[in-house]
Amino acid sequence: MNTFVRCGQLFTGCEDEAQAGQTIVFDGEGVLDFVGAEEGAPRRTRGDRVLDYSGFFVMPGLIDVHTHLAYGNAKSEEDIDLYSPLEFRALRGLFFAQKVAAAGFTAICSPGDAGQISLSIRNAIRAGLFDGPRVMAAGRYVTTHQGLTDWYPTWIGAPETSIGKLVTTSAEAVEEIRRQVKDGVDCIKIALDGIQRRENGELVAAFTQDETEIMVRETHRLGKKAVAHARGREATLYAARSGVDLIFHANHLDGECIAAMLETGSAIGPTLTHPRNTIDFTQPHEPAYQKGRPGHAQREYEIGCANWKKARAAGVPLMTGTDTGFAITPYGEWNARELELFVEDLGFSPAAALRAATEVNARFMTGGDRIGTLEPGRAADFVALASSPLADIGVLQDPAAASAVYIAGKEIRIAARDYDPRQVTDFALSNWTDIYTRARVAELQGQRPRLAAAE
Ligand SMILES: [Zn+2]
Repeated sequence: MNTFVRCGQLFTGCEDEAQAGQTIVFDGEGVLDFVGAEEGAPRRTRGDRVLDYSGFFVMPGLIDVHTHLAYGNAKSEEDIDLYSPLEFRALRGLFFAQKVAAAGFTAICSPGDAGQISLSIRNAIRAGLFDGPRVMAAGRYVTTHQGLTDWYPTWIGAPETSIGKLVTTSAEAVEEIRRQVKDGVDCIKIALDGIQRRENGELVAAFTQDETEIMVRETHRLGKKAVAHARGREATLYAARSGVDLIFHANHLDGECIAAMLETGSAIGPTLTHPRNTIDFTQPHEPAYQKGRPGHAQREYEIGCANWKKARAAGVPLMTGTDTGFAITPYGEWNARELELFVEDLGFSPAAALRAATEVNARFMTGGDRIGTLEPGRAADFVALASSPLADIGVLQDPAAASAVYIAGKEIRIAARDYDPRQVTDFALSNWTDIYTRARVAELQGQRPRLAAAE
């Protein structure tokens, strides 16, 4: 049985324009047989089915290369690592993966994970147990004391339930990579820097150039992709020279980094949504605000935008991903904001942003030659939208806009479902975020009337 999809406008991801009066045809396995003008379509036979999206904009399913399925809308690092068992995190991650799919994202990369959460979610969906997006799974970040995810004091280290795996030698790093590959990951995440700086403010790389090369070489030798967290110039340069496939952030890249990226083929996932949400949404009562994070994020963002534009102009691919999974980037809510920010802040046309989130992202994904564009031989992963994102890229964020989402030719319908966030995330023991000295109490009492006495 074939399925014929009549499309009002069709954006295949192969070009910048959408075409009217097109039809796509896919087979019983969800593989596209035909994409083109309705007149040229194969003849329908009895038993074939027709989907009428003649009033809709049809495009490839969106891809987010930076959605952390293990995090659970985390409010803190402890929340990511400590308070809920891995089994609960996996179930929660599956629920949230479905929310991301419902928002039009038919594939995601989950880069950095405790236990075997994202690969278990991937396998459960792949086996047909649940509806959900295609998942490209990583294991724990490989890190050192200078890298992200080693965020506790040295006397605690990185607990077994943490998303970080501390290694002390390159031999240990290679052993961890081999173990994760045996477990079935699609990519290896390396924490190439964190928050430690030199006197001059420069972020230090967590690994040396040699160590980075050893890890990336082993990852590639085993047929997997390498992903790195790198904000500073040094880590970005090491990642680029080593041929890390996808470098997240890279705010402080320079000409040397760009040259190395072009030589080895590294792409950048600038990840605009997390900092922009931090800047735009963090309220004054939040600890993040009191620590000055919005201001810091703003400065880093401005530096990043100038550098990412240079990298793009030089020919480095930029991929869309959001760092979804934090309280500031809850699942399915803001994944499409990344495309709007590519347009607003990086100067992408809406068509270029759509292509970044589809065919460009697909180049990184496992099985990426079967997704990302609507062409014969590829999967029937597509969304039908009520209006055109080429006219207004913001429509992708309208919950009502993704009128239908198909993965491998099967419609994914995820019912909106209320849940109790207090039972899902943040089981922290902290009760106060202020310290009530006499001076502080006097200050507070000067700000607002005393509470009325209890009746
Ligand atoms: Zn991340």
